[in-house]
Amino acid sequence: MQDALTITVGDATITSVWDGTLEAGLATILGLDPQEASRHVEAAWRETGDNPLVLPVRAFIVRSAGRIALIDTGSGTTKGPTMGHLPASLAAAHIAPADIDAVVLTHLHMDHVGGLLDEAGGPAFPNAELLVHHAEAAYFLDTPLAQLDARSARNVDFQRAAIAAYGPRVRRVADGEGLAGIAAYLAPGHTPGHTAWRIKSRGETAVVLGDVVHMSAIQLPLPLTPMIYDVDPDLAARTRIALLDEIADRDLLVAGAHLPASGLGRIARDGAGYRFIPAGSVVRS
Ligand SMILES: [Zn+2]
Repeated sequence: MQDALTITVGDATITSVWDGTLEAGLATILGLDPQEASRHVEAAWRETGDNPLVLPVRAFIVRSAGRIALIDTGSGTTKGPTMGHLPASLAAAHIAPADIDAVVLTHLHMDHVGGLLDEAGGPAFPNAELLVHHAEAAYFLDTPLAQLDARSARNVDFQRAAIAAYGPRVRRVADGEGLAGIAAYLAPGHTPGHTAWRIKSRGETAVVLGDVVHMSAIQLPLPLTPMIYDVDPDLAARTRIALLDEIADRDLLVAGAHLPASGLGRIARDGAGYRFIPAGSVVRS
């Protein structure tokens, strides 16, 4: 269990919810000299005190306009003992699964949707509507299996069953749609319908990054660097740079599934790349 952290966005709040850790390894990085990669990993390790190749996996609770939304669900029982701790983290935050009004998905990879089902195979959040961008649904749910890339096809049985378990409560949304104060915006590349949800209240904005930044130790200083998990690596890099530029320029809040610390904070420009400033930390000059 790790400490949760809550930040405010106007009248809304975002609380990080820990699901566990995922061993990534340098082999998940594409097109980077191993020595240069190691140098960035070591630098990030010194700065955070945590091994940057062991990625935290998080979801986020958003309280907005009187409703409780859960953004992503962790990995449930699909990924082994280092993950699947989201139910315990929710309980520690005094949130029952039945309290969740909406589950909002950044994308359909297993560390984000594995927790949609409980151990009995039923919906883990019995009262929640389920929001997914129509582009992500079209790719993972509607594409004939033979037309999916091999990596995307690997878990499609689970993904389709998990979404189907929510029956008529599934809502496919377009850009700008969502819940009061929480809206979908396509941030494609990692997956075709990868979505960076925006939480807005009283002039403040937070961007939920999902996996726009996957391995922060590498992809913040070297934002062009793709990973093997990207369906379209070039598009993922363009999306990452465009979004991080906007976030840094407007000093927006971010919530990242695999960012260090609580996953909540801000992004600053740093040379040709960026760095993450965790919420609650002192900015060094
Ligand atoms: Zn992920």
